[in-house]
Amino acid sequence: MKAAIIGAGPGGLYAALAAVKHNVQVDLFEKRNVGEGIVCGECIFDSLDIMKEPGRGLMHPVDEVVLQGRGCYAFPLGRHRKLWMLDRRSWQQDLARCAVNHGVALYEHTKITPARLLEMKKEYDWIIDASGAPSVTSRLNHFSNDYFKEYLLAHQVVLAGDFSALWPRIKIVFLPDMPADYQPAYAWIFPKDTGRANVGVVCTVRGTLKKDKLDLKKMLAQMISKEGLDGAQVLERGSGMAAAGMLPRLVYDNIILAGDAAGLTSPLHGGGIDMACLSGVLAAEAIVNGGRGVAAYRETLNHYTQEKLALEKVTIQKMKTLNFEQFDDLLGGITSKNIFARFRTALGHLGMFYVTLKWFGTKKKMPDWPV
Ligand SMILES: Cc1cc2nc3c(=O)[nH]c(=O)nc-3n(C[C@H](O)[C@H](O)[C@H](O)COP(=O)(O)OP(=O)(O)OC[C@H]3O[C@@H](n4cnc5c(N)ncnc54)[C@H](O)[C@@H]3O)c2cc1C
Repeated sequence: MKAAIIGAGPGGLYAALAAVKHNVQVDLFEKRNVGEGIVCGECIFDSLDIMKEPGRGLMHPVDEVVLQGRGCYAFPLGRHRKLWMLDRRSWQQDLARCAVNHGVALYEHTKITPARLLEMKKEYDWIIDASGAPSVTSRLNHFSNDYFKEYLLAHQVVLAGDFSALWPRIKIVFLPDMPADYQPAYAWIFPKDTGRANVGVVCTVRGTLKKDKLDLKKMLAQMISKEGLDGAQVLERGSGMAAAGMLPRLVYDNIILAGDAAGLTSPLHGGGIDMACLSGVLAAEAIVNGGRGVAAYRETLNHYTQEKLALEKVTIQKMKTLNFEQFDDLLGGITSKNIFARFRTALGHLGMFYVTLKWFGTKKKMPDWPV
């Protein structure tokens, strides 16, 4: 079987590694050099237990998240699910080296256009499109608007400064003046080490973006000032979007979408590295299993993600319906060291408590991760 994979991001790289393991002949096309041009907070919420140990771009696990509302609350999330800080450039370069060593043919600086994709459909048995959002397939098949019906919009900087007080934790700042229409919204400070951090702000856009009402750059500048980071030097700056839900259709003839190209980013926080890796592996397994495997692709994705998405849905609802003070009470309650306070909070938010228990309590046999 001969497969083409478009895009050497997390989705394309995991797809290439999984496909080659199944003896598929893989051509991997990347429009830049692998690891170039990444705009990302570089913190992976490893909800699917993909990562094993630090090394090769996987920097360190994060045990505690500082949640800032009216007060500051410590949430030891690392006890339940792992969070890692990544250096995506070296992580992706290492995955690409590993793929090439296993026989993947990697073509860097090779941009696939919609016209070229049309030709490739005849040359390959299967194509996995992991080109991000909007994907090459969406430009060929005219569905790019699907990514923009509801999406998370982010602006971020990499700062050089003193982050020793926060590192190795990360901080999420909830924004007091953000209207419910733009929720979920938050700002983040993710230290890479004691001297550098990815700092950004994200909010949700539904329908047409009203630029005069939403100035992410200004919001980020205000947050940086409030956090006492005015003196920090800006090393990089970038913006980007993430679709807030799986696209209605994932297969176009012999093309199968993975990662951001499939709309697989968290509607709660916009993170998508875990889902890109998962969908890359599942897309590769689907094509190996032929038409029936591909037909079951969406269902298999749902199987692995439904509990996590159920919790995200309830949390989004809370962010949209509670005012800032009520949301702060919720943060204080769930992070309280006092078991009775936690129990009282759970009783006040029974739906959330139920889906949280279901998510933490569900153990599934994961796919064979290729690395
Ligand atoms: C500001 C911001 C911050 C984020 N922070 C986080 C975070 O902290 N944690 C997290 O989990 N997620 C985060 N995300 C989301 C995360 O970046 C994506 O979900 C993830 O990168 C998806 O991986 P992917 O492989 O599907 O796509 P991508 O990483 O976008 O990779 C697509 C690849 O395809 C290549 N490509 C595109 N078009 C073509 C073409 N025509 N021909 C050939 N190659 C092509 C691109 O160059 C790229 O290398 C963030 C997103 C944004 C916008």
